Amino acid sequence: MTEKIHKSEDEWKQQLTPEQYYVTRQAGTEPAFSGPYYHHKAQGTYHCICCENPLFRSENKFESGTGWPSFTQPSNEEALETNADHSYGMTRVEVTCSRCDAHLGHALTTALPRRANGSVSIPCPCVSRVPPRTRHTSDPSSCIPVFS
Ligand SMILES: [Zn+2]
Repeated sequence: MTEKIHKSEDEWKQQLTPEQYYVTRQAGTEPAFSGPYYHHKAQGTYHCICCENPLFRSENKFESGTGWPSFTQPSNEEALETNADHSYGMTRVEVTCSRCDAHLGHALTTALPRRANGSVSIPCPCVSRVPPRTRHTSDPSSCIPVFS
């Protein structure tokens, strides 16, 4: 069982940018196709922007056509929690961070290509990508920017 992180709304506001706060703590989103990670293909692990919980791996990322980064599975079975979401007159499955309850997005539905079933798509402000640690190189042009 993952140990929970509890912070006040003020503490989250201090830690996060207004956009990150809106998306993760108020269940917001960003316009589709706008985020820096949508077409992002570099390797690494996508961590929760609130608590650094490792959520997704680049090898599980795929283009779902939703306009948000999408992953076929979480980085491990305990990374995510799901809740039924009945807002806007729809029944959807909300996906949250298991450690800090950050809103991350929604599970993809059957309207998408078959292989997408059970996948999730998440707005970019929810995550930061950390490159693989083992990557050592003397050529600066091959370095991966952490926040690109
Ligand atoms: Zn988190």
